[in-house]
Amino acid sequence: MIGVRAAHAATDTRFDVDAVRKDFPALHQEVHGKPLAYLDNAATTQKPQAVIDAIVNFYSRDNANVHRGVHLLSERATAGYEHARETVRRFVNAREAREIVFVRGTTEAINLVAQTFGRQRLGEGDEVVLSAFEHHSNIVPWQIACDEKRARLRVVPMTGAGEIAIEEYARSLTDRTRMVSLVHVSNALGTINPVRRLIAIAHERGIPVLVDGAQAVAHVPVDVQQLDADFYAFSGHKLFGPTGIGVLYGKANLLEAMPPYQAGGDMISSVTFERTLYNTLPYKFEAGTPNIAGAIGLAAAIEYVQRVGLDRIAAYEHELLDYGTRRLDDVPGLRLYGPPLDRKAAILSFTLANVHPHDIGTILDQEGIAIRAGHHCCQPLMRRLGVDATVRASLAFYNTVDELDQLASALGRVREVFR
Ligand code: PLP
Repeated sequence: MIGVRAAHAATDTRFDVDAVRKDFPALHQEVHGKPLAYLDNAATTQKPQAVIDAIVNFYSRDNANVHRGVHLLSERATAGYEHARETVRRFVNAREAREIVFVRGTTEAINLVAQTFGRQRLGEGDEVVLSAFEHHSNIVPWQIACDEKRARLRVVPMTGAGEIAIEEYARSLTDRTRMVSLVHVSNALGTINPVRRLIAIAHERGIPVLVDGAQAVAHVPVDVQQLDADFYAFSGHKLFGPTGIGVLYGKANLLEAMPPYQAGGDMISSVTFERTLYNTLPYKFEAGTPNIAGAIGLAAAIEYVQRVGLDRIAAYEHELLDYGTRRLDDVPGLRLYGPPLDRKAAILSFTLANVHPHDIGTILDQEGIAIRAGHHCCQPLMRRLGVDATVRASLAFYNTVDELDQLASALGRVREVFR
């Protein structure tokens, strides 16, 4: 333990967690009279002051509608909104800003692709390949598209170690496969899928791939060109940005060929009652007034994360995960799920013998510790693990070893109560 602490202390000189914590006002409060340990970052992250300020500044100074106005405020709002798009483009290294579509979040991004690209490509007897890890938002949109087209889902199983079974994945791709849709980092186990390799395997057969990056972008650097992802989806609120804003990246040639998802203002170039011509990318997919303040807040979040540095974030979180794993391993009756540490990001998912995860969640809340207990929107995965639910402590770079100590000690007390 001392060695781990020493190693952590050494990390602290490179990664000043106390300094970054000062940037997040919500972290500095008591819950039920105890200092808050916020370990529910996979559900949503806290926001740095820079993001809060960006939103306040927008509404205080620049608020106007985008793309349509001829007045100064509208020009400023448009500039802010388009600067946000360019910031996202650089963040994921997309080739062009028009490949970045603003949506409400990962869920809407996947629905958009399933309802446009998916419906266009699917026919009777075709297949969409998913993995056993998927979040409901990467299952149900495909189920709906498949039901309509009499196509079906094909699910790649998970290994006992909590990883995708790569050989079975390769075998599951057939002449009937029209689409692959896979999670990058599992929200329930933390598994980092080898998406670059999985995409290459699908591309050998000419099959396009969507990557659900909801849990990846805050923890690992993402380069959509290097991955060669056809579509990549993520949510702002899991990346220290606001809720109600997210991103769909799509390769320009694919987005060009897709029909619109929603129809209305801004997505057209001309309308008559006989015929409508659609706008260019990305506006074809951004019908109606967008979440302007959300996009500006998201850009501020990305700029903040880039200042801290994703490589440093990943290294620090890895040490936290290592430390947390050791501390939890010491709790009698505790079982951790997921792959080995080198293939895992930021998630400690576990059960405690004879104690329901919801009871654990309630008791931990009384101790000031915010975690999530439940199926994590991954009911098929829970069934595969043979449990109804797990407790999930999910980390961000503002978490500390002290919070993990607080968690382990509280779990030890839970264990005593339910002995
Ligand atoms: N995919 C994964 C892996 C997630 O963890 C989540 C949210 O928890 C989603 C998709 C859905 O994200 P949102 O609710 O922001 O649309």
